Amino acid sequence: ELYNKIQELKGNIRVFCRCRPLNSEEIAEGASMAFDFEASRDGELRVKSNVAFKRNFKFDAVFSPQANQVDVFEDTSPFATSVLDGYNVCIFAYGQTGTGKTFTMEGTDEDRGVNFRTLEELFRVIDERKNQVQQDGEGLHHVPGLVESQVTNMSEVWEVLKTGSNARAVGSTNANEHSSRSHCIHCVMVKGENLVNGECTRSKLWLVDLAGSERVAKTEVQGERLKETQNINRSLSALGDVISALATKSSHIPFRNSKLTHLLQDSLGGDSKTLMFLQISPNENDLSESLCSLNFASRVR
Ligand code: ADP
Ligand code: MG
Repeated sequence: ELYNKIQELKGNIRVFCRCRPLNSEEIAEGASMAFDFEASRDGELRVKSNVAFKRNFKFDAVFSPQANQVDVFEDTSPFATSVLDGYNVCIFAYGQTGTGKTFTMEGTDEDRGVNFRTLEELFRVIDERKNQVQQDGEGLHHVPGLVESQVTNMSEVWEVLKTGSNARAVGSTNANEHSSRSHCIHCVMVKGENLVNGECTRSKLWLVDLAGSERVAKTEVQGERLKETQNINRSLSALGDVISALATKSSHIPFRNSKLTHLLQDSLGGDSKTLMFLQISPNENDLSESLCSLNFASRVR
């Protein structure tokens, strides 16, 4: 309840920054960290003082490389489960390829991420509320490539989520290369009952692992690949434009500028809730790309 009150005061858009740990290769190369996390509890991310672009950034939460999946979900859970109270909810992971978007959303078999934990939590709350909520499979038939599944228990959920991300890897020998060029979108449809007025609610929870945000030099790509890159850049910047227009309460929200924002139109804005994970690399060598992501985030907050 307190959370909801704070929420009302702050509006419906949140940005969480998550920094992955240095990986073993980076450690072997003696890579240095670009950020310090001393003030991460206060939602502050600081570029290290010995680094040229010394700057601080403010977020609704900052997760240091030491934060684990449980820590991240603790802050995500109230947001995600508000779909049961009739809110549409969008959760995105944004960032350069290799910064942990898929780790945050999907996770690994041993270390499951937001998608699985959210579904698990939804089933738990539904059970607690004595089955007032039903699943609802209607309404998304216009999405190309959509695979629709009914899930009635948790053992089915991981399989369904896996099917989605496996579909993404088709057509590429390199899963990470393909994921850098596509968005992975899950939509959970929830039919329920408003606990206050008893009205029927029908809400959507979108779980979105976005394509890599890295800039690709035009000289590096040609033909189909160039068109694809331009489409990705357009959809990511259109998403930024929409969220930033919503954050500043602009009278015109440019939903129609990309397929992605068009698809999410009824779940962005209004009393919908939006949570963006801004994923960054800790490596000083990636700082210029990280600063692009951080600047993107400062537009939507
Ligand atoms: P992206 O989807 O943004 O391209 P990935 O999620 O594939 O990035 O992450 C790249 C690698 O880093 C993967 O091997 C992943 O398991 C690992 N990784 C990312 N974030 C973390 C983290 N917070 N803790 C541990 N490993 C991580
Ligand atoms: Mg990925």
